[in-house]
Amino acid sequence: MRKLRSVPRPQSLVRPLVHRLRPYVPGEQPQIKGLIKLNTNENPSPPSPRVLRAIQAAVDGRLRLYPNPTAQALREKLAAFHECEPENIIVGNGSDELLALATRAFVEPASHGPGRLRAVSRRDSRSTVQFFMPSYSLYPVLADIHGARRNPVALANDFGLPTIESLRRSKDWDFRAALTFITTPNAPSGRGYAIAELAALCRAQRGVVVLDEAYVDFAAENALELALKFPHVLVARTFSKAYSLCFLRVGYFVGGSELIAALQKIRDSYNVNGLAQVAALATLDDLPYYRANFRRLRATRERLRAGLARQGFEVLPSQTNFILARPPKFTAQAWLEQLRARKILVRWFDAPAVRDYLRITIGTDAEADVLLRAVSAILPRPRNGR
Ligand code: PMP
Repeated sequence: MRKLRSVPRPQSLVRPLVHRLRPYVPGEQPQIKGLIKLNTNENPSPPSPRVLRAIQAAVDGRLRLYPNPTAQALREKLAAFHECEPENIIVGNGSDELLALATRAFVEPASHGPGRLRAVSRRDSRSTVQFFMPSYSLYPVLADIHGARRNPVALANDFGLPTIESLRRSKDWDFRAALTFITTPNAPSGRGYAIAELAALCRAQRGVVVLDEAYVDFAAENALELALKFPHVLVARTFSKAYSLCFLRVGYFVGGSELIAALQKIRDSYNVNGLAQVAALATLDDLPYYRANFRRLRATRERLRAGLARQGFEVLPSQTNFILARPPKFTAQAWLEQLRARKILVRWFDAPAVRDYLRITIGTDAEADVLLRAVSAILPRPRNGR
């Protein structure tokens, strides 16, 4: 028998770009009994009873069939909800999928390989994915996966948007970038942005702008009108956070029909699973249930903010379902560990501008109480205190 030739080394079969890639790190999902999980901005309320019933009713022999490829019924219902046409909407397997599709549809891979943007030339702009720092840490990873250039530009010190004049002065910002992601309200700071500010930025950009409104249902205003006004602007929404459907993965973009049609061309044939379509449709039939949840969550957010502030935390104003807070006495990382020891999980980012803060998801009122009691137990007693 002939001897087997040596087999290739698997590592040599992986593209160098993939070999070098530092992947996105999602928040932990530990299965610890009794854990208070305030680390991934999930909603403390379950989906509405009507939604749960609709999902259960859909679990039968029809699971053997493919779902509607474009989630057509859902697009129609979303179009009626947002007062636009189904052609203005694409549904994705979570908004994450659509952010990736936008990168593939609108950005040329860089001819000299990926990396941070250095010199800005017209040719480089076509390969540039641009975003503010800090914001959603998936954006640079999407650029890297695509072999595009990233252009991270710092937000103002208070996490506000820099003015157009200051962006022009600084020269870091690329008004021609192929794709610009703006998280609004911002994550992880929770800060909201005025529509007028966003409109000015959209007007100044020559490439595609995605306004990522993952948390907008907890905010005072939204910028959806900009997606229907400017043909180069897309608004990203998700059923994950406000509508308690992280598990099923449904997000969508609203925008001009030309950009939406380009994205439709490159998505997977059946990108949104059937149960997710059923759940999202039922959600839109039960909006009062969710609006009551938003009100409750905002009230808990205010209670937690005030309670933490009383214990010496610096809590930033939030328009989202989380708060960013700078803890007193110990480092943020030490607080993360101390809280974890008490079975409370929050998020800490080892990144400039946010290293001194904890990001805390708003849970139930009862969870806020447990957190506040834990904080008080962790804080050192005053020397002569009783
Ligand atoms: N945008 C932002 C700013 C987010 O924080 C998240 C959730 N991690 C997403 C988009 C993605 O949400 P999903 O894919 O669950 O729709």
